Amino acid sequence: MLELLPETARIETGELTLGGLRASELANRHGTPLLVYCERTIRAQVDAYREAAPGALVVYGTKAFANVALLRLLAEEGVGADVSTLGELAFARAAGIPGERIVFHGNNKSEEELLAAAEAGALVVLDSPGEADAAATAGVRRVLMRLTPGVEAVTHRSIQTAHEESKFGLAPDAAELEVERARELGLEVEGLHVHVGSQLGRVDESLLALERALAFADRLHWTPRILDLGGGLGVRHNREEELPSVAEFVGPLVERAPEGVSLILEPGRSLVGRAGVTLYRIGSVKESGGITYAAIDGGMSDNPRPQLYGARYEALLANRAGELPSGVYRIAGKHCESGDVLIEAAELPEPRRGDLLAVPATGAYTLALGSTYNGVPRPAVVLVADGETRLIRARETVDDLLRFERS
Ligand SMILES: *Cc1c(COP(=O)(O)O)cnc(C)c1O
Repeated sequence: MLELLPETARIETGELTLGGLRASELANRHGTPLLVYCERTIRAQVDAYREAAPGALVVYGTKAFANVALLRLLAEEGVGADVSTLGELAFARAAGIPGERIVFHGNNKSEEELLAAAEAGALVVLDSPGEADAAATAGVRRVLMRLTPGVEAVTHRSIQTAHEESKFGLAPDAAELEVERARELGLEVEGLHVHVGSQLGRVDESLLALERALAFADRLHWTPRILDLGGGLGVRHNREEELPSVAEFVGPLVERAPEGVSLILEPGRSLVGRAGVTLYRIGSVKESGGITYAAIDGGMSDNPRPQLYGARYEALLANRAGELPSGVYRIAGKHCESGDVLIEAAELPEPRRGDLLAVPATGAYTLALGSTYNGVPRPAVVLVADGETRLIRARETVDDLLRFERS
């Protein structure tokens, strides 16, 4: 299981430690559910990108988890931000990320968003017919054109983004017209953008998208200054999933990119996914129709990936990490839905009320997609390193939820 956990995860005297801190200590100090990020794992992932693609601009796919402290940590490493809304832009700005390291996406940017992107000096990615006009009016200077390369990624349908029917980008004919229009308007068309999808397990489709982008540029007799190849590299959530390393995924793309072209890479999941571990407290344990349920104090409100994408997680009992599994247990959330199951079949020592359940690889698209369903406030988030913990998102309270109510 350690291979799914952050780099600093250890089992010491029968207990899971993260960043040199015992899981039980983290849970006691900050409460549960608790999302714990390992700083060293995030920095190591950035290093891996830097080594695989020296000279490329790496921008974090902010939607994987928008958090000012994480964005600031990434900014220290020279990483920028890929944003697609006013909110994500505000997070990036709050983290001190300069405009030249911000890429602004979106299939339906508002006027207000284009104005904010222009004001920040962000690179704006054109995505629809007529957007060049709107961008120029808003005062945007530098743009990329997002191409729909007609490539079908091997991943969940909801996170494929480059197939012919995609809502993102423009197919070559329409993209050509939009590039021409952007040039007429005096915008600097710096290059092209493609993004194939997310949780990708191989580079083939991304390479094909790169080929198609190059073919498109050829057709326009154009040498783009920038090629933005998007993000997409997956993260292992269970031991059956096999995924390429950053070097294996990025290497072939770097090799194929023409000389003199600057690359932008937009990893989200692969920067923060493995760094995150969620700690839950186990409550009720019961048998029903031959299945033993262990219920946790969170669920689909802090991690809806099982429901959205059929994600399969593994888990361990953090406070009894030295014990061997004794059976298979279904990990249920606390929400009023039978579908609120985090893990269908977790191999664990017999769980008891009060045990701590640790779920690896929950750093990306978990809390980011979270809700306050059932009136459940969202969990706290901490960053750990060298035996120190830092709260980077406060636990929401019921009062926070009531703040929006009017009667
Ligand atoms: C979501 C997204 C990313 C990040 O994708 P990951 O799979 O998290 O790496 C990058 N670029 C664009 C345009 C995206 O929509």
